Amino acid sequence: MERRSSKSEPFSAHQPPVSFIPTPSAAYRQHRKSVATLLEPGPPRTGLGAEPVPVPFGLGARVLMWRQDPSVAEISTRKVFLPGLMLDGPRDARVTFGQPGIEAVSPNAFGDFVTTPDTPQFDAVHTYAVVRQTLTMYQRALAGNDATDTPLPWQWNDGANVEPLTIFPYGLPNVMNAFYSRTEACLKFGDFVPIGQPSRVYTCRSLDIVSHETAHAVLDGLKPEWLLADNPPQTGGLHESFGDMTAIFLTLSQLDQCEAIVAQTRARLHDKTFLADIAEQFGLALGRPNGLRNADNDITLSQAGTEVHAISQVFTGAVYDVLADVFALERDPARKDDAAVLHQVGAVIRGLVLRAFIAAPDHAATYADVVNAMLRLAVDDALPMATRNAIRNRFVQREVVQGEVDQDHVAGVDLLPGVQDAPGAIQDRRACCGTMNLAEYYDVEALLDVERDQLAKWCAENGRPAPLQP
Ligand SMILES: [Zn+2]
Repeated sequence: MERRSSKSEPFSAHQPPVSFIPTPSAAYRQHRKSVATLLEPGPPRTGLGAEPVPVPFGLGARVLMWRQDPSVAEISTRKVFLPGLMLDGPRDARVTFGQPGIEAVSPNAFGDFVTTPDTPQFDAVHTYAVVRQTLTMYQRALAGNDATDTPLPWQWNDGANVEPLTIFPYGLPNVMNAFYSRTEACLKFGDFVPIGQPSRVYTCRSLDIVSHETAHAVLDGLKPEWLLADNPPQTGGLHESFGDMTAIFLTLSQLDQCEAIVAQTRARLHDKTFLADIAEQFGLALGRPNGLRNADNDITLSQAGTEVHAISQVFTGAVYDVLADVFALERDPARKDDAAVLHQVGAVIRGLVLRAFIAAPDHAATYADVVNAMLRLAVDDALPMATRNAIRNRFVQREVVQGEVDQDHVAGVDLLPGVQDAPGAIQDRRACCGTMNLAEYYDVEALLDVERDQLAKWCAENGRPAPLQP
């Protein structure tokens, strides 16, 4: 600043006052921001119009979780904001962490559940987060639809019982499996050391496996009879397929995952991708490079027989083909971002599948029941003819329904079933996940009764005396 001479005229007559404008350093600016955020928060800034813009109420927490599982290193972890109240555990009204021997995880100073991978705390948060995201995804799919709007209760919930689903990330030590149990109201996940490999595989660290088991719980709340083993094979296939489709839908509900899929496949969903590979790390442990199951398959119903796991892949494969077809039809890179289109297509097909499952019969539902419900809903939702044709054609190709693939789909006419279960066919659940093999879904007492009856008959026929009374 120039020094003023005492002889000069008053300063204000010739020059504006030079006010001191500080230019704070980056460190000072950061300090001021922190003070403003934590110590001296002012009134919230809202919109300036007549209708003030609401300030989002920050109920919710950030979590760190695997994108797929630890083996899919290319995409590793993601930080996510989960809206809604999330308490120590983690737990909320519908889902709670309950592993004995592991302390409940508490939020950090910011109210977040960001923990270090490969620790029990991370596994608790990851497992909880996937279950919560899966439930929320399906609740959103029904939101606003008056006919089916539902909070998606667990199977045991009623007016007097609002017990949550309890998750046990280490519930099955040294077991290569995971399951949903209705009688225990829980999900349990196994861990094991693969033969010839140095490190333990934890099934709770897989988005695919956790969302698959959560899907069994969601569907059991909607269709409690479907899980029982006395249903025909296709009904079992629907349950198992719903698990794998849920893993795909959950991935497609996350924009960053859509972006990674588009980049990985150059927007061609039939290229190899983590989207179609179900349970990658588990699959690698068994020497399978495409995961435990591959949704991008070509199996038809006549090839699948009565094996529920194989049958499930037919339905999953057809829906995967529909996703790929509709994405290819809807792509418009000149106007829309591919990842955004994939995200939207995932939401449309997810909504159709969930609502079609709900619309299907409560007992002994067949694939054709669900496909016809999907087509009816597609008409109700005024989806493009090309989408309706894609759904019909992919299920014709899989021998699920009959139809003329070179003509447009006709609204209001149900398609005839293709290959059907033989009358009285028994489900073969050997290759399914742990849920489908739990004794609680079989009428085990009826099975034991067969042997008891034979024993009683033999005793009577051979004149076996009654035991001596003490
Ligand atoms: Zn399953």
